[in-house]
Amino acid sequence: MPRRSDEKTRKPKTKTKKFDSKEKFFRKKSCRFCLDKTESIDYKDSMRLKRFITEKGKIMPNRLTGNCAKHQRKIATAIKRARHIAILPYVGE
Ligand SMILES: [Zn+2]
Repeated sequence: MPRRSDEKTRKPKTKTKKFDSKEKFFRKKSCRFCLDKTESIDYKDSMRLKRFITEKGKIMPNRLTGNCAKHQRKIATAIKRARHIAILPYVGE
């Protein structure tokens, strides 16, 4: 019984990736807190912090938000504090 050769029936690999929608929310790659010269980020400012979490409640990485490392750290700390006092959810819906 001849063995079936899968190599000839294999589909050609498509190299078209559709992951260009990464920067949906933030197109500018500049830190908005540096532009505004904001030094401290208020953890009670939930409206601002909500823009830096996903709908599942995760903190967005700075490659998506465009924040610099310094302000990304402050955002992350503020979000964690806000979660602790139940302003922001640990797990989104
Ligand atoms: Zn910054």
